Amino acid sequence: MKLNIVDKFRKQLPADPVLENIRRQVSGACFSYVTPNAEISPKLLHVSPELLSNLGLTQEDAKTEAFLNFVTGKHVLKDTKPYAMCYGGHQFGNWAGQLGDGRAINLCEVEHDAKNWALQLKGAGETPYSRSADGLAVLRSSIREYLCSEAMYHLGVPTTRALSIALSGNEVLRDVMYNGNAAYEKGAIVCRAAASFLRFGNYQILAAQGDVTTLKTLVDYTITNHFSHLAPTSKQTYLTFFEAVAKRTLKMIIHWQRVGFVHGVMNTDNMSILGLTIDYGPYGWLEGYDNGWTPNTTDNAHKRYRYGNQGNIGLWNLLQLANALYLLIEEPEPLEAILMAYKTNYDTAHLEMMCSKLGLANRQNEDEDLVKNLEEVLHLTETDMTLFFRNLSHFKKEMLEVEGLKIIKEAFYNEKDVVDTIKTRWLEWFKAYKIRLAKETQTHDVRAREMNLVNPKYVLRNYMAQLAIEDAEHNNYKLLDELYTMLKTPYSDNPKYEKWYAKRPEWARHKVGCSMLSCSS
Ligand code: AMP
Ligand code: MG
Repeated sequence: MKLNIVDKFRKQLPADPVLENIRRQVSGACFSYVTPNAEISPKLLHVSPELLSNLGLTQEDAKTEAFLNFVTGKHVLKDTKPYAMCYGGHQFGNWAGQLGDGRAINLCEVEHDAKNWALQLKGAGETPYSRSADGLAVLRSSIREYLCSEAMYHLGVPTTRALSIALSGNEVLRDVMYNGNAAYEKGAIVCRAAASFLRFGNYQILAAQGDVTTLKTLVDYTITNHFSHLAPTSKQTYLTFFEAVAKRTLKMIIHWQRVGFVHGVMNTDNMSILGLTIDYGPYGWLEGYDNGWTPNTTDNAHKRYRYGNQGNIGLWNLLQLANALYLLIEEPEPLEAILMAYKTNYDTAHLEMMCSKLGLANRQNEDEDLVKNLEEVLHLTETDMTLFFRNLSHFKKEMLEVEGLKIIKEAFYNEKDVVDTIKTRWLEWFKAYKIRLAKETQTHDVRAREMNLVNPKYVLRNYMAQLAIEDAEHNNYKLLDELYTMLKTPYSDNPKYEKWYAKRPEWARHKVGCSMLSCSS
């Protein structure tokens, strides 16, 4: 097993001088050295063939004990020095102070094919940032991260990736719904990969400490290594950097809205500086199209991180990052201008994205109303987002409105509801859509093909991950592999997977792990 280790992050940034693995407040540093827990008997469950080749590894490498020991932290590779990153964050709108990698340990950074890959274990033991927790992860949350991050990648959504998932061989105590019912679960370790795992919170913590020197070092490092087209660094570059982060954040969230992904915990410590979807916790996928939905039971009262609010939260989080970068820029107006631009750019990008889902190529005045009306009718009765948009590509402008309704009817969870006003509203919408389609120049076949490239056929529905988890808890990993494979081609019709192109089954409606998830992981 040969990796081209570069380790820029730990070599170029200031390290915490304390080497003892005790919980502490860290200052003047971007990370702390820490060794993963070696007291494990790991078992590999799944490896990503693409990630292997991205890293310059082979399928044969993945079969070795050295690989297993590497991706679980049992053995630390020579010349590497694992570390946990220091960051803070706003959690649910409040500044929470130092958080940091409490159960993530960075192994090293690898360069292959001119790409940088930071490799990070999740669940490999405690770190100086573990606070009152154990630094471990359970099988269920690890399967959710492993499957979903790869599914997102193949959907074309910017995301961190996953190289492997393994059992640690240890048991982990968790109280899934925080209701006094703690129980032991299987421990697991995911080895995840990204160009960088830096978050908004990495910059915020330094600003909160008033450590402008280290903040500048970290921002310069980020620009040089990850936004290199912007160098050399200056105040103007910092602004352009912030603008680039705002654009990437916006792009990522628009993709989430397109595929119906709800992150669930958009705290600023879970916002990647590279605009990657990061930290797969109590996320969920829309089944019924619902702007008010969040899978995260911890957020039930305010639904701060609901589907329809993700764009606003992106802006709120960017404002917190702007506050941190202000220490280097010292002028509020240009930062405010970038935040204002996010607002208008978001609305434009959202409309563009929704129009692409409807197969509308050239903007027309009525598009905004058409999309707004559609969002309204989608909320009248529970309507499956994935089935609705995918089936819609069968609608042709020559068809009658009632035929349109027939095409999408399997998306309704209660077809019987589609009578009276609801039916009238749908027929009206199809009428407007027909009129609008008449202004399109491309043929139906071309439009349908384009729609099918933005409206996925298969997503990781909440209950699907749960089924794979339940099987894996009984040592059966077939479904994990089946879903993994299916989600590699989410836009292609595949008769083999037809059973996964269906509404959520009724048993999953209120089940823990499907519709209800907590931060316990
Ligand atoms: P999250 O809500 O998963 O993004 O985590 C928020 C913070 O809590 C981060 O600093 C995590 O590293 C930390 N954390 C979450 N779970 C654990 C755990 N089991 N052990 C230690 N730290 C944790
Ligand atoms: Mg996190």
